[in-house]
Amino acid sequence: MSETIVIAEINNGVVADVTAELVSAVIAFGGSPTIIVPCVNSSIADGAGFTGAGRVIACKGPMFASYDAAGWANALDAVTPAGSIFVAASPRSKDLAARIAARRNIPVVQDVVAIDGSNLTSPVYSGKAMQTVNASADVVVSVRANIFAAAVSVPADVSVIDQSGDVLTAVEELLARSSERLDVAEANIIISGGRGMSSPENFSHLERIADVLGAAVGASRAAVDTWDDIPHGMQVGQTGKTVNPNLYIAVGISGAIQHLAGMRSSKYIVAINKDADAPIFQYADYGIVATWEETLPILEKSLAAMM
Ligand SMILES: Cc1cc2nc3c(=O)[nH]c(=O)nc-3n(C[C@H](O)[C@H](O)[C@H](O)COP(=O)(O)OP(=O)(O)OC[C@H]3O[C@@H](n4cnc5c(N)ncnc54)[C@H](O)[C@@H]3O)c2cc1C
Repeated sequence: MSETIVIAEINNGVVADVTAELVSAVIAFGGSPTIIVPCVNSSIADGAGFTGAGRVIACKGPMFASYDAAGWANALDAVTPAGSIFVAASPRSKDLAARIAARRNIPVVQDVVAIDGSNLTSPVYSGKAMQTVNASADVVVSVRANIFAAAVSVPADVSVIDQSGDVLTAVEELLARSSERLDVAEANIIISGGRGMSSPENFSHLERIADVLGAAVGASRAAVDTWDDIPHGMQVGQTGKTVNPNLYIAVGISGAIQHLAGMRSSKYIVAINKDADAPIFQYADYGIVATWEETLPILEKSLAAMM
């Protein structure tokens, strides 16, 4: 087999936990990956050694301060050896995966949820079917979070490659709405609100429960499109983020196919909806037919007592 490479997922300047899962994904693929860490400061690569992985390369450059599609693809393509490349299935890394695959003229398989040797399985048609493809040659693969057990972290020697001189484009400044909240793409528990929440102010009920559970707050597209105060970064679904938490609580969300596409692989789905015929109940492990106004205060109180 040719070389396998993991491009570490970086969140807020640190190596994200999903990187350890990518190592396990590569092991299931039959490889022992080289880990490449895009960074401004190479010291973050010290935490990127894992059992079953090979060397760690810190790819250092100012362009890695904020994501810029062309800048990252150019810089990482230049330092990544030939072989199969694994990234996390986050919106940013899926974009990067496609760009690197195009530059190398090799296939890309996105959103992989199972790996059996060179067989890669991923959802298609908004999650209505699964496809398995055989990767008989080099391929770029994005892997969903919370599928593979995390590889054990171990100390590793880090080689540093300075890409500072290879900057074609770079983002000078990123203006983002600041949020203390966990991103849905990284969360193990998510509570999401839809148009049924009636107003953005009512999302405070979801936030309080999220605080008790250590969860992230998500939203349907109808919610982010209707209310400016609900940022698009919270959107779960086909044109939002794909999530795969252990627990997904959908509140006032009908369960349109485009929403399901982003969350139906969650381990447990709980739906709270006043309409017993809402499609979300067909996919929920637990359903509560009631308004959120009746349900959330009781849920919050009970969870607070339990925790
Ligand atoms: C190309 C395309 C891409 C799309 N991508 C996405 C995507 O990424 N993510 C996404 O979410 N959608 C996406 N959509 C939109 C999708 O089709 C739906 O319109 C959207 O998901 C509906 O959001 P909703 O369930 O919040 O709203 P609604 O469909 O309006 O449902 C609101 C629900 O709240 C319930 N409700 C109302 N009041 C209460 C109450 N007081 N208590 C409890 N329940 C209550 C209602 O019974 C209803 O089921 C996309 C659509 C298209 C065409």
